[in-house]
Amino acid sequence: MTVQAASRNTASQGVTCRAVTKDYGSGGALVHALRGVELEISPGELTLLVGPSGCGKTTLISIIAGTLDPTGGDVSVLGNQLRQLSKRERTAFRARNVGFVFQQFNLLPSLTAAENVSVPLVINGVSTPEALSQAAATLKEVGLEDKTNSLPSQLSGGQQQRIAIARALVHKPRLLVCDEPTSAIDAKSGHAIMELIRKVALESDRVAVVVTHDPRVFGFADRIVTLEDGRVAGEKRGESAAADTESELKKESEHES
Ligand code: ADP
Ligand code: MG
Repeated sequence: MTVQAASRNTASQGVTCRAVTKDYGSGGALVHALRGVELEISPGELTLLVGPSGCGKTTLISIIAGTLDPTGGDVSVLGNQLRQLSKRERTAFRARNVGFVFQQFNLLPSLTAAENVSVPLVINGVSTPEALSQAAATLKEVGLEDKTNSLPSQLSGGQQQRIAIARALVHKPRLLVCDEPTSAIDAKSGHAIMELIRKVALESDRVAVVVTHDPRVFGFADRIVTLEDGRVAGEKRGESAAADTESELKKESEHES
């Protein structure tokens, strides 16, 4: 079955994790990073994944994005059981369907903003002139139409992160995954970045997951899932979700120290 056929044939167009485990290392250095994650993420809402450093957030979203293999369990993304795809199919699936935003932007320093943004299109076989023209259009959507020819080093952290978001969106992926997208930028830029992510997440029924431990961005979520020691410890929705999650995490860190 092709990737496209698989995604047409199943009901769930979100993300489902069943009993997902991940071990790193072996022997005395064995780390149980994920210990049985059960999670469903629906399209059309912004889901935050929060929890203390080391609880497994990056591991979990890397598995969801298809860049890391779980040790055990099942992950279904946009109707595809990732385990059933060959390595090659998975790479193609990821290139077509997934946009990833990293904490440290990960822009290529020698490429202009437009060239950086065009990379996912070029990987998908789009010609360079067409890719650059679509990249320029996407840069306009994130408010950087006047920076298409700038190098990353000529831009602020907030602007670089907007370029990274444009790069994650240029090929119109159905899954957007962001790992601590605001932690390397100031509060004001962080606010603008989350507004932008929220806007694009809610467009076109995209599935959007943002990992963070920054309480300043909790208020942007429709749903906040808390991860603790490699497991989902709880979730919150609604108006008080942000405040409740913040006070819970504060209590835990006071308890630890
Ligand atoms: P978070 O993103 O919540 O800070 P991570 O998913 O990065 O957590 O890490 C979860 C646990 O797995 C931590 O104990 C971390 O030290 C460990 N870990 C993460 N990546 C690796 C790796 N490549 N090799 C060994 N241990 C790792
Ligand atoms: Mg992390």
